[in-house]
Amino acid sequence: MQYNYLDEKLEKNPWDKLEENFVKKGRWTLKRLNDNIPFLRDRYKEAGISPEDLKTLEDFKKIPYMNKKDFLDSFPNKLLCVPMRDVVRMHATSGTSGHKPTCGFYTQNDLDGWSYLCGRNLAAIGMTNEDVFQNTTSAGLFTGGFGYAQGCTVLGAMLIPFGPGMTSRQLEFFKVFKVTAFHAIPSFGLRLAQVMEEEGIKKEDLFLKFAILGAEGWAESTRKTIQDRLGLKAFDNYGLTEACGPGVSCECQEQNGLHLWSDFFYPEICDPETGEVLPEGATGELVLTSLWKEAIPIFRYRTGDITALRKSDCPCGRTGYIMDRVQGRRDDMHVIKGVNIYPSMIEEEIFNLSQYFTDIYLIIYHTVGVYDNVTVNVEVKPGIDKEKAKEQLQKNLKEAIMLGINVTVFDPGTLPRQEGKAVRYKDIRDRPDGYKGWLKMLKGEN
Ligand code: ZN
Repeated sequence: MQYNYLDEKLEKNPWDKLEENFVKKGRWTLKRLNDNIPFLRDRYKEAGISPEDLKTLEDFKKIPYMNKKDFLDSFPNKLLCVPMRDVVRMHATSGTSGHKPTCGFYTQNDLDGWSYLCGRNLAAIGMTNEDVFQNTTSAGLFTGGFGYAQGCTVLGAMLIPFGPGMTSRQLEFFKVFKVTAFHAIPSFGLRLAQVMEEEGIKKEDLFLKFAILGAEGWAESTRKTIQDRLGLKAFDNYGLTEACGPGVSCECQEQNGLHLWSDFFYPEICDPETGEVLPEGATGELVLTSLWKEAIPIFRYRTGDITALRKSDCPCGRTGYIMDRVQGRRDDMHVIKGVNIYPSMIEEEIFNLSQYFTDIYLIIYHTVGVYDNVTVNVEVKPGIDKEKAKEQLQKNLKEAIMLGINVTVFDPGTLPRQEGKAVRYKDIRDRPDGYKGWLKMLKGEN
């Protein structure tokens, strides 16, 4: 195979150079946090650590982790290591536990590095400046849309910043502008395939070669369907707002694990329960240290994502670490249509309408057609207008979470009561009987 790179030499950096960089840049990152963030300085002090103590890779293990709570507690900008005037961009998630979004701030250098990494992703899947790239995610608050718009520009391919939705029109653009590559969430890739079928568009009518998909979990079977129906190769990529957005890791043309850009991030895997560092190849929680970020660097940040790491032996020749596709989450966060959802966010909106609803509810993550979706089942109090209550909750959820969420309203006393610790959410996206199976499951029938 002819492999494609944004910068072949850098992507094939020898191991000893990478390792030297982990320590040197890791120390630089630790010092930034130690010098600028009082609560982290206290944490390091308590652990008896100062940045100068970081001399070898082994020393990383002595340094306390950062975690999601650090971001939540620091909302909106208490993790900033630069003066506000040096910040040129902010992105954020829609919200997490307790409704606070996770904010990413960028200096010009951060922005340049991030754009470069997204360009590196696009080159890794085989794209060049000859390609025409349609971005089907919005260049808005979330990192995905802007990230790939910038990456495409770094690569020099032509960008069509279409944004989400309007599937038929997207397909028309594919045809008219001879689009060869697109970026989407996986369920939208499936949606494109579905509409092609409905409208009698054959893959031979299009010019597609590559799709880069991410921001929600997807199965190998989904990849196969998208590849077969659209006539292209579909690639996984990984990122998170705390790290920069997309650009942490990406599959290459081999589609065998994600190359984690190890000149920009140092990864470790820890036991999600105990925090103990696990040996190479073991499955656990991904921990990331940024080696370049100025505004909000991360040092040993626990991502909550479950995966495994290995040293690259990929035929493409890239060095550094390869991570498996993400297998799940440590906590109860779900990603639906690129939006992070915690059950507690939904619960809060239900409880805010306690004049309408009882406190019995069940959140179901399921599949509608090709889409991952979430439905909230609630129960009204006696004498409440079900339609009116439903409308209000749907409206509040949409405002709070920035995602359309279906609400199903049940009569008083009809949702099953549960003994002991109540199950408040179920993920039945893999269940053959789908959404209809949820009552059965609640009753403990399987
Ligand atoms: Zn490779």
